[in-house]
Amino acid sequence: MAAGNTKTDETVLSEPSGEVFVVSAPSGVGKTTLCRKVCERLEGLVYSVSYTTRPPRRGEVHGRDYFFVDEMTFDEMVRKGCFVEWARVYEYCYGTSRQWVMDQIHRGLDVILDVDVQGAHQIRRAELPAHHIFLLPPSWEVLEERLTKRGTEDPEEIRTRLGWARKELESWEAYDFLIVNDELEEAVRDLEAVIRAQRCRLQRRRPWVRRKMVEEFRRG
Ligand code: ADP
Ligand code: 5GP
Repeated sequence: MAAGNTKTDETVLSEPSGEVFVVSAPSGVGKTTLCRKVCERLEGLVYSVSYTTRPPRRGEVHGRDYFFVDEMTFDEMVRKGCFVEWARVYEYCYGTSRQWVMDQIHRGLDVILDVDVQGAHQIRRAELPAHHIFLLPPSWEVLEERLTKRGTEDPEEIRTRLGWARKELESWEAYDFLIVNDELEEAVRDLEAVIRAQRCRLQRRRPWVRRKMVEEFRRG
């Protein structure tokens, strides 16, 4: 291969090679459950731990489930541009670390973001290689049941979340993929399939194939 083309290969290889998978759905559909399960199964896929002003629920761990910060710290981070997206959801703020996401994709890792529909909208406008996945509940009754059975919100908060859910469900058409989270194993497999398929795209494989062509496949 000509020297000029080799340079192009190097340029391509030095570009970020990981991608972002944005998973959105109304509260209680099963985003966290699905995202965590898929991260356990797929090598090279990491879960973005968000910052939030919400107080921890019983059993939640700082740094694993969220980085729990106060309003002042969150506002300061917003001012400094630390978030690639952030939103007020219900009465609290949630945000995704720009630096962390960029570091991961530059290392070639895929990142999964569990964000609300406002956050997904902001990611669409950011210059990131991102795929957008929306989760749907199999029925309204099941959504109510999941939120209630999770037992992490009081009845008033559940009513608020369900009120938001009706509006959030309207945004389904803005996404690249729709997954119905009915039977858990099937939904996990669907999400895994979406990510695996993106990893096989020509655009994603190109640097690897070009390198192989030069190093091995074209040798006599
Ligand atoms: P979200 O992150 O979207 O708010 P969670 O992941 O916390 O939702 O899931 C809400 C509740 O529903 C949890 O108690 C979870 O264990 C349960 N759940 C999630 N997916 C399923 C499923 N496919 N079938 C039954 N229960 C589910
Ligand atoms: P919860 O309080 O149930 O953990 O999360 C409430 C909502 O906030 C969920 O819809 C969740 O997806 C969303 N959320 C969590 N982290 C982020 C984030 O970093 N950014 C945005 N925009 N939403 C988030």
